[in-house]
Amino acid sequence: MPIYEYRCKKCDVDFEYLVFGSDEPKVCPTCGGKKVTRLMSACGFKTKGSGGETVSSSAGSSCGGCSASSCSGCGS
Ligand SMILES: [Zn+2]
Repeated sequence: MPIYEYRCKKCDVDFEYLVFGSDEPKVCPTCGGKKVTRLMSACGFKTKGSGGETVSSSAGSSCGGCSASSCSGCGS
């Protein structure tokens, strides 16, 4: 299951969310704020960057679909 990182714009807290299918957090677990945004770096960074290598957002390859919901294959 892919784990995405989100950030609440209200309290500025980052939190991780285990995404099942198209399910996404609608509210912040800390303050209940509804303005949460997914951090785009989470997917490629966590899967490919664990070895210390730098992953460019423009690297593409298998992680080119990070901005879409089709990125479930990128999770651990
Ligand atoms: Zn919050």
